Amino acid sequence: MNNKPIGWNGKTLMKMLEESEKYIKETKSYYGIDKLKLKEEDPFKYERAFASLRGALVSARETALHVAASPIVKEIGELCFALYTPEGDSIVVSTGILVHVHTMSEAVKFMVKEDYEQDPGINPGDIFLNNDPECGNVHTTDVQTLIPIFWKEELIGWAGGVTHQIDSGGITPGHDLVSAIQRFDDGTYYTCRKIGSNDKIWKDHMINARRSVRTPFYWELDEKCRLAGDLMIRDAVLEFIEREGIEYYKQFIREVIEEGRRIFQERVKERLIPGRYRAAAFFDIPMKEEAWQPRAKIDKVSNQPLEIIIKNDGSMLLSFDGASGPGPNPMNCAKGAMEGGQWVLLTQVLIYGDKVNDGAYFAVDTDYPIGTWCNPGDSSLSYQSPWGNLIPAYTGMMKCLSYGLYSRGYREEIVPGYGFTGDAIQGGGIYSAGPLKGQRWSLSTFEISGQGLGASGVKDGLDWGYAMWNPEADLGDVETWELFQGGIPYLSRRVKPNTPGHGKYRGGANYEGVAMIANSKEVDFFGARDGYCFHGSGGMHGGYPHATGYRLYAKKTNMQEIIQNQKEYPLGDPDPSNGEFEKLLEGDIVRKKYCTIYPIILENNDVIYYALSGGPGYGDPLERKVESVKQDLDNGIYTNDLVINIYGVVAEYKEEMGEWIIDEMGTEILREEIRAERKNKSLTFDDYWEQERWKITEDMLSEPVKRMYSESLRLSTKWRKEFLEFWRLPEDFQLEVK
Ligand code: MN
Repeated sequence: MNNKPIGWNGKTLMKMLEESEKYIKETKSYYGIDKLKLKEEDPFKYERAFASLRGALVSARETALHVAASPIVKEIGELCFALYTPEGDSIVVSTGILVHVHTMSEAVKFMVKEDYEQDPGINPGDIFLNNDPECGNVHTTDVQTLIPIFWKEELIGWAGGVTHQIDSGGITPGHDLVSAIQRFDDGTYYTCRKIGSNDKIWKDHMINARRSVRTPFYWELDEKCRLAGDLMIRDAVLEFIEREGIEYYKQFIREVIEEGRRIFQERVKERLIPGRYRAAAFFDIPMKEEAWQPRAKIDKVSNQPLEIIIKNDGSMLLSFDGASGPGPNPMNCAKGAMEGGQWVLLTQVLIYGDKVNDGAYFAVDTDYPIGTWCNPGDSSLSYQSPWGNLIPAYTGMMKCLSYGLYSRGYREEIVPGYGFTGDAIQGGGIYSAGPLKGQRWSLSTFEISGQGLGASGVKDGLDWGYAMWNPEADLGDVETWELFQGGIPYLSRRVKPNTPGHGKYRGGANYEGVAMIANSKEVDFFGARDGYCFHGSGGMHGGYPHATGYRLYAKKTNMQEIIQNQKEYPLGDPDPSNGEFEKLLEGDIVRKKYCTIYPIILENNDVIYYALSGGPGYGDPLERKVESVKQDLDNGIYTNDLVINIYGVVAEYKEEMGEWIIDEMGTEILREEIRAERKNKSLTFDDYWEQERWKITEDMLSEPVKRMYSESLRLSTKWRKEFLEFWRLPEDFQLEVK
């Protein structure tokens, strides 16, 4: 038991947190700071102070990932570090998966509010571990290590690091599970647990942790990696204090958060126009055919309506009022995950060149309505793959901000959305032959961190190079992924045609891969991404959404015979209606219109396929430059049939030249024809409204869509009122779902 408070000036941590919350509420500024005194008195010293702390965090990250880390962490840098105030507000952050910077803040606040100061005690050298989404985390797969930093007898901050694990011991192998439907399927939970003292992780914790996951070696490596980084940060902070003095440090960390808050508001004022912005986004969760558990057999679509209010002072309100309900699936999102998502995108779209810390968090008011998928308030649910809802939902924020950026003339900053970082093919198996016989391998390529970005208002989206949760996206090397998923060697990886959303500027494109099971037994395999409907809110100003995903695999194949006779095998699925799998393979070929599947069992010589996501487009495809369309054809980004139908471009492939040649005249005529056809087919808004309303009143909506709207109507009176008014429906209107 600690009797002497560890906060500043004899206060307890709880008292400090209460005070800081009171200041924000009453004065709107961090700790009631009205003048940035240190910055005004000596701006050079102030900026140097920020740069030295920031540099310490970046180098802690770079060093830690080389000290010890699992392949996901090492190959694509799936980790980040941050420094927090005693109350848990982030002061400065490293590079990396910035989605977690605010999440760890909530973990510190949880420990403060639960009075960890009294029990289990917070002492110099203590180590805490957290992976509970109910106290700030995204999912159990993300594991956070937090250590307190003391100066003399006072707690002066926290260092935190987070990594994404390959396996956290859930219902099946994998890191973003599909078949988890309740907390007890999510894997091992550490709810802000003390796991060490005197800078040493306790042996009993490590014994337990190793037995709780399928990849104990990687788990242990990553625990060492995070602790190493945290200790480096602590050393750097103590050196800083020795150099600049404790009083300077204490004042600096508060001023710099207040400055972060002001910077955010200034950027909002500069780049957006006050007003109300709205966007709609959706995600399909098709579990009716897939789920094993009887009560999970439901097809759902999530409703993710977003409203952003920009106020004159540059502050922002973000509301998901009208969101549909949670469900017996792993896509439920706790509030901490939502805040993480909001934060990582705001730093990318608005404050990328400035001081990044929790100041930005304080400049935004949020409404994640309780009882919905984005704040279920029920810790018995599964939170294993919240990304399923979070990723599509925040495309709405990108779109709202893009309308504002467009209005201010920042056309190059527009980005209506991004590809879904899904279809990380997952699972694992056991080697049945070779030098590693008997050992387990895990399927977890992190190629998913290279998706197509949405187009801007002046150029195409970035191809295969963007992940919304890690601004330093990197799809990694096949050779590295094969090192630890040895039982499923790649047969190919190449550009997949027709993935990007069409537009004057097309979305970023993406690729596809084929792999085969070899030398293994007991292989589980599954994956997830948008399938029946495109994720998110689609393109902008006439741009189209990207192509959706689907599932394709072949079992009981003749791959051995193909290999022995050196015959052709499928390298992809460029045209699903005339598939290479069907042409080149003998066996049971399975195609599903949706992509999210529960685990299946695979055997040697079975062949799997996956396709990554393109980004949404911007502007009318008929305005796309003909030379750009030629390039798309030459590079295999689009096939000729789509180029004719959507871009109105007439082209012919010249075998002898090895390129596509455009028929300029034919293109002009075709584009005119398409414009005339559009005019003929177009409806007035009133006719369109009538037609859509009829679907509601005549019970023509599909079951998952009805379920989605019935949940939104039940969960929000405001949303219900607006829905009924817009469609002119009676007060007692109900959507019946059987
Ligand atoms: Mn994660």
